[in-house]
Amino acid sequence: MTDPYLPVPLTLAARVDQVFPTLTPAQIARIAAHGQVRAVQPGEVLVEAGDQVVPFFVVTAGQVDIVQPYGTTETLVAVHRPGQFTGEVNMLSGRRTLVRARASASGEVIELDRDHLLALVQNDGELGEIFLRAFLLRRVELIAHGIGDVVLVGSSHSPGTLRVKEFLTRNGHPYATIDLDRDADVQELLDRFQVTVDDVPVVICRGTVVLRNPTNQQIADCLGFNEAIDHTQVRDLVIIGAGPSGLSAAVYGASEGLDVLVLETNSPGGQAGSSSKIENYLGFPTGISGQELAARAYAQAQKFGAQLLIAKRATQLACDRKPYAIEIDQGARVPARSVIIATGAEYRRLSIENLSQFEGAGVYYGATFVEAQWCGGEEVIIVGGGNSAGQAAVFLAHTARRVHILVRSSGLAESMSRYLIRRIEETPAIVVRPHTEITALEGGDHLERVRWRDHQTGTSETHAIRHVFAMTGAVPNTRWLEGCVALDTQGFIKTGPDLSPEDLAAARWPLVRAPHLLETSLPGVFAVGDVRGGNIKRVASAVGEGSIAVAFVHQVLRE
Ligand SMILES: Cc1cc2nc3c(=O)[nH]c(=O)nc-3n(C[C@H](O)[C@H](O)[C@H](O)COP(=O)(O)OP(=O)(O)OC[C@H]3O[C@@H](n4cnc5c(N)ncnc54)[C@H](O)[C@@H]3O)c2cc1C
Repeated sequence: MTDPYLPVPLTLAARVDQVFPTLTPAQIARIAAHGQVRAVQPGEVLVEAGDQVVPFFVVTAGQVDIVQPYGTTETLVAVHRPGQFTGEVNMLSGRRTLVRARASASGEVIELDRDHLLALVQNDGELGEIFLRAFLLRRVELIAHGIGDVVLVGSSHSPGTLRVKEFLTRNGHPYATIDLDRDADVQELLDRFQVTVDDVPVVICRGTVVLRNPTNQQIADCLGFNEAIDHTQVRDLVIIGAGPSGLSAAVYGASEGLDVLVLETNSPGGQAGSSSKIENYLGFPTGISGQELAARAYAQAQKFGAQLLIAKRATQLACDRKPYAIEIDQGARVPARSVIIATGAEYRRLSIENLSQFEGAGVYYGATFVEAQWCGGEEVIIVGGGNSAGQAAVFLAHTARRVHILVRSSGLAESMSRYLIRRIEETPAIVVRPHTEITALEGGDHLERVRWRDHQTGTSETHAIRHVFAMTGAVPNTRWLEGCVALDTQGFIKTGPDLSPEDLAAARWPLVRAPHLLETSLPGVFAVGDVRGGNIKRVASAVGEGSIAVAFVHQVLRE
């Protein structure tokens, strides 16, 4: 059934009074103290679709319609009556608005500019909660109904289409799709834009610009994701990477009054964003998808005033000067009094076509107590011949019926510590399979069967094994740092007490004090989460480190 405020049915279990709350007279009076009362006429446009940094309106008399314009026509999206207010998450990010707000009757509104709205969200707990919840829920509705300024023309078989979908989804940006495999009329559209097969996917951006197989950065630029952000001003804190550790540092830094800018090469969420369900993060007993956790953290950071540059890769740290500067694509520089490096690591993934189908549903990147319980009494496969693979094998052998270690080389001797090899030899439940590689994964919602191939004998076998641990190591994202901070032998960043006197001497550590916990060999530059040597590879530890580093940033800024 259609509800009175949204001409399309709500998709959420959320109540309509949470998506479109009606404020009390006392709440309206608190808002009015920060804004201006103004009369509106029927047909008057208060916000135009595509406008940037738009004001916020509370309707006090009359009615304001929210519509999506298509050329000369409009589709009604929502209706705001007295006591209700305009806006969705773009109010926080300052990105271009997706819809038009138009008075449909003569009346009166209270108008607040974005800065006053942000101040209100931060200082008035009750209103902050109402606005934030409504903005987020409205965005979810826009996404669910594909009401936005992007049309994606692509094929579900094309990796480029999947990449663009993932980029838009992980940035919480609504889009409509035209599936080339299903829509017969689409050829006419493609012909009109002279689009060839190589140009797919095509992104029609804000109704006017046609992007052919665009990069994520081109999409971000076209949609104006970063337009409202001035990256030339010196920031108290620049955070590189918007995974859990970077987002946590952004939330703590901004909420404690620091001027924070985050650079993210792709979308907020990092590795955690690709996890279908995180079940061991405190406070979420039934689990939370990585994407939802990231979306909440992103909104939380923006609520406190942190700014995020999306699809901007840090390519170099200018560490020979103060303030430091971070070079981003196309040579622009972002100056910073302090820096937190939160660029994480990329797990080497098995090169199997349908791998992502089973990630978290039979394919794992860590062997903890939780995974061990899932595999109890069953056979498991560990891929990799390093120490992490050996430790996992010994650990899982306590509960699993059999542990197969698959290595491409002739054995473990070259890659694993001797003590682990001995333990593996002494554990009858562990079988080492040299020269062997997984060639296929099969199943439905969960992995059911694995095919592997012995390259020496040329034989392939399929086994009903439901659990694969990819332990082929993680590569830290530190190449861009080019000698600015001390790294360990694996390329992870050394911090705090892990920095030896030799490291500090080589880095010409200039201060009398020793580096703080999580501080690198460069004063005022910190490293947190999976990019740090000795990290724990957990969302919780990444989040914790982000908050700890901010405590030391305050001390460094006072020095
Ligand atoms: C599939 C999967 C499932 C997982 N499940 C769990 C789980 O259930 N529980 C748990 O506790 N842990 C889990 N983990 C581990 C957890 O996700 C990581 O420990 C955590 O994400 C680390 O956070 P981080 O912020 O340090 O780094 P990351 O999450 O790696 O984020 C780093 C970010 O930095 C960005 N970046 C990299 N280089 C640059 C650059 N040069 N410029 C700008 N940005 C850059 C990246 O795009 C990325 O967004 C899982 C990991 C994976 C891969």
